[in-house]
Amino acid sequence: MDVVFLDKTRDDAFVAEVERESGQNVALCYQCGNCTAGCPYTFAYDIPVSQIMRLLQAGQKDRLLKCKSIWLCATCESCTTRCPNNIDVAKIMDVLRHQARRHGLAGERNVKVFWDAFLDSVKAHGRVFELGALATYVTRTGRFWTDMDLGPKIFPKGKIGFKPHDIKGKDEVKKIFDRFMEESSK
Ligand code: SF4
Ligand code: SF4
Repeated sequence: MDVVFLDKTRDDAFVAEVERESGQNVALCYQCGNCTAGCPYTFAYDIPVSQIMRLLQAGQKDRLLKCKSIWLCATCESCTTRCPNNIDVAKIMDVLRHQARRHGLAGERNVKVFWDAFLDSVKAHGRVFELGALATYVTRTGRFWTDMDLGPKIFPKGKIGFKPHDIKGKDEVKKIFDRFMEESSK
């Protein structure tokens, strides 16, 4: 059984920060376990989502920001829908990912690399350029054979373009990214 030493590792500022960024009151969680029962990724998590809520109440910053679960979360919002106290649990998972990113922590590096490749592509073109995002992902992870078998099935159908197609408002999209970076660095 894992033991949490509240006197040594409790970080109240972290709890306040997560509450401010998510707009949620984490003290409302009474550990009914409904979120975990409905979470489709519990089988893969290192910490189930209801325990994430408990560790958050206890201000366990390091433990939470280094865990794998926040990167494996599919943002399906089952937890939010099932919470009897109307806590937007999925939003809290999202905020924890942002925090882990800011602190240079990512328990599942390849998931973060995938997200970065996707977002870099949207920032550059206003929409994702799938082949470019895939090339960035395999280059950064070294997973050169990932989904290689899908190529012969997809390319003849024209499902993936060989060139990026920028949207008209791509500069506006880039401004959204810049504004986010500006806000999150405050
Ligand atoms: S949003 Fe994430 S934590 Fe919530 S139920 Fe879906 S996968 Fe689980
Ligand atoms: S469903 Fe809501 S109250 Fe129940 S454990 Fe999850 S977050 Fe806490």
